[in-house]
Amino acid sequence: MTDKNELLASVSESSAESEYFSPMPKGYQKGKTKYVVVMGTVMSGLGKGIFSSCLGKLMQDKGLKVAPIKLEGYLNIDSGTLNPFRHGEVFVLDDGMECDMDLGTYERMLEKDLSQDNFCTSGQIYREVLEKERHGDYLGRDVQMIPHVTGEVKLRLRTLAMKSNADIIFVEIGGTVGDLENAFYIEAMRELAYEEGPHSCCFVALTYILEPRILGEQKSKAAQLGIKQLMQSGIQPDIIACRARNVVNEKARQKISVYSNVPIGRVVSLADSASIYQIPAMLRECGMDFEVLKLLHIEDRIDLRKERVEWAKWCDFTDKIGKEKHEIIIGITGKYTSVRDSYASIINALEHSGIILGCKVKIKWIDTSIITGKNVAEHLKDVDGIIVPGGFGVRGTEGKIACIKHVRLNNIPFLGICLGFQMAVIEYARNICGLKKANSTEIEPDCSEPVINILPEQKKIEGLGGNMRLGGQDIKLKPDTTAFKLFGNNPSIRMRFRHRYEVDPRYVEKLEKAGLIFSGKAPNYPIMQILELSEHPYFIATQAHPCLTSRPLHPHPMFTGLVAAAM
Ligand code: GLN
Repeated sequence: MTDKNELLASVSESSAESEYFSPMPKGYQKGKTKYVVVMGTVMSGLGKGIFSSCLGKLMQDKGLKVAPIKLEGYLNIDSGTLNPFRHGEVFVLDDGMECDMDLGTYERMLEKDLSQDNFCTSGQIYREVLEKERHGDYLGRDVQMIPHVTGEVKLRLRTLAMKSNADIIFVEIGGTVGDLENAFYIEAMRELAYEEGPHSCCFVALTYILEPRILGEQKSKAAQLGIKQLMQSGIQPDIIACRARNVVNEKARQKISVYSNVPIGRVVSLADSASIYQIPAMLRECGMDFEVLKLLHIEDRIDLRKERVEWAKWCDFTDKIGKEKHEIIIGITGKYTSVRDSYASIINALEHSGIILGCKVKIKWIDTSIITGKNVAEHLKDVDGIIVPGGFGVRGTEGKIACIKHVRLNNIPFLGICLGFQMAVIEYARNICGLKKANSTEIEPDCSEPVINILPEQKKIEGLGGNMRLGGQDIKLKPDTTAFKLFGNNPSIRMRFRHRYEVDPRYVEKLEKAGLIFSGKAPNYPIMQILELSEHPYFIATQAHPCLTSRPLHPHPMFTGLVAAAM
């Protein structure tokens, strides 16, 4: 994670005699980097990541350098082994880090690629501490939550500060105040503020204002109690953002202000918004950006001219929201159809393309476990295009293959992603190449025509953590193909991957001879990355996850292509 010997200059200063233990990266200057810490009270799921990324965007627009970090309470080393049905999609960074979907929100809002430095779990922190203990780094001391575990958290943040050279680090603490899992993070933030000194940290408490239907009025008690709990941890919030269904009224805000010692001007209402891309404007309207600058004493670091340019660009984009002249329905086939968070990046990517093209994209969720060759036409009769997204395991795969056959034969626009790409290969092998038994060894381990097979390098790996082909990879595009044109005649592009299986190279020639075009391949290996068909309005699939790198102002071409074809 860090160059330990290089960075851990002052661990050795912590002798058994001293109570001051706070490892510092070498050369760290207090006061240079400021910290905005975002915590949640009352309940999780308030959109801490959205809030934090929107505020980060406003700061970045002002010419400040920002770096986000998410501190997760769970013990997993990364999010790779988490079930998207429970936790939302697993987001993959360019360096291969499998992380929480909030990192996707940060990448989209800040328009930048993040890395493993921006994602931290309790498991990572404990692992570091235990490794140091075995290495004898704690010099005979009993290793404790305070100061050693909290010290490790502060070290992570300060290391990020140095590596990123950021003016502001946005620290988002997962879960809610009062959870056992994240208590040491909150304590570490209290210590950080004490050590860094006044005007170094800005604490934001996100809270929720209840509005029970039978009462018909807003109630702030739960919010007050949550904030009180934060104050009991030794943290005085500087800003309280009140999430609610409707605009939070003056009375509720006054109550919270009085109970929390936070001036009313910094107790702000954040009502639900139709699009998260409108939240930066909401934060600007209540003056949140300048409040933060004032609290951190960095008004002199900003560049207002840059801000004007960036804000104009952003408003050009957001002005189009809700004014779309067209409307289409895209069907998404998938197993996790009851939890939309499992497909957050796909939903975002469709939104980006739709806004740019002036088209409202409605989504129809299609549960493929009930789809067969007989009923597929009925299920797909009202869609203008479909996406077959990524996934794992057997359930619903035959239904996906039936959908792909239907859209191929009926000229319905199609985008296949990862597992969707593999299903498209199987469909083509079975129905065009005559390989009736074609399948993936993930679905049928002993299958006699394994057109999709495990990657050779994956065969050697044991266990299920962090062992897929992960992260950004270069793709060589074949000239004069749809893919080549979509990417502006660029011969080489980059996308992010997360898979164990691939097209078995032994079948490539046969598939190509039968008309399947592999328009994107890995530069040095026979790994097929993009496929397409020529006699079809839009039939394209990729082993990668293009949705991960779609950004509001730069929608991903494979999605823009789908929406345009569907229109
Ligand atoms: N299950 C497939 C594989 O491991 C596809 C993975 C995915 O869609 N992310 O290759």
